Amino acid sequence: MAYEHERRVAELAVQRATLLTKKVFHEKAKGELAKDDKSPVTKGDFGAQALIIQAILKNFPQDQIVAEEESSSLRQDAPLRSEIWDLVKDIRLEDKASDELLGGPLPSEEAMLDIIDHGNSAGGAKGRIWALDPIDGTKGFLRGGQYAVCLALIEDGDVKVGVIGCPNLPVDDSASLTADIGSQQTDGAGKGVLISAVKGEGAVSRPLTNAGLAQSKAISMRPVPDISQAVFCEGVEAAHSNQDDNAAVAKRLGITSPSVRLDSQAKYCSIARGAGDIYLRLPVRKDYQEKIWDHAAGDLIVREAGGQVTDIYGKRLDFSKGRTLSDNKGVVAAPAALQDKVIDAVQAVLNLK
Ligand code: AMP
Ligand code: MG
Repeated sequence: MAYEHERRVAELAVQRATLLTKKVFHEKAKGELAKDDKSPVTKGDFGAQALIIQAILKNFPQDQIVAEEESSSLRQDAPLRSEIWDLVKDIRLEDKASDELLGGPLPSEEAMLDIIDHGNSAGGAKGRIWALDPIDGTKGFLRGGQYAVCLALIEDGDVKVGVIGCPNLPVDDSASLTADIGSQQTDGAGKGVLISAVKGEGAVSRPLTNAGLAQSKAISMRPVPDISQAVFCEGVEAAHSNQDDNAAVAKRLGITSPSVRLDSQAKYCSIARGAGDIYLRLPVRKDYQEKIWDHAAGDLIVREAGGQVTDIYGKRLDFSKGRTLSDNKGVVAAPAALQDKVIDAVQAVLNLK
């Protein structure tokens, strides 16, 4: 099996980080700060990033890491920093061998900051680069909706391993998306799934646990004999994708049911397991460049489950350009057999032809 060690470390590291994010999810005060671009970050984002980078550094010290967060605000905020350290230092997987594989606990509060800043690689077309979003969908996390812990290994620009932990999605792959999936969520009984893929080896899901990895099951997109019956999903945040344009595309395809809205790469996971069918992310602003950590894991998982992922021009996402997808605009993901039809509709709606 290719990338067996990478996949195992990535799955366990994501699983361990979700123990921390779940703790913070249930706290009233999540340590919310606004970043320079006005987007929120929480104790959960910083803590999950520290835990996952620690595991990568212990197992693959030569690899580069492109991660969403950096520690400058924490260096100026001692109380918040020590609250995060209090969370990070106590997180353990209950299975000792699994926890040891991740390199054991972080050495100190100061070291935690440097570990967070190891995610500052510029990315690019050469070598092994991990793309990490410690909490994708932070707004969903704060709202009590969906969020995801996302990690991918990109080698020479090509995604080889993708892992996504979704604490608030159902364990059951066959549960169809419901209208309320993106709001008023819990991580209680029956929730919490870890989805992963290795290039050329398909995609699998397993329940998230507090210990070692649970048994995995192969997942795949569901066949859609009639495109008008497809379930399409999109983000909750209207600032992240153009919901009017998304709706116009769906209408052109004959889809009459409304979109299912959910935050984060839980959208990629949901279509990959056949809980939905199409994911539309048509751009709001011409100048926005999508971030590689928002898409790398989901891109591989959907393609390994029988789907295609492209931008609005029908071009594959290009992860070799650095920290952003500077050669792409928007995202369109669908079962491979439907992708051309969906792209035709996107191009008609956006007057690209
Ligand atoms: P979603 O949960 O699908 O709305 O996606 C969340 C991600 O959207 C965040 O991680 C941000 O990196 C990203 N994001 C922020 N601003 C924009 C924007 N203007 N267009 C597209 N994505 C954005
Ligand atoms: Mg994100």
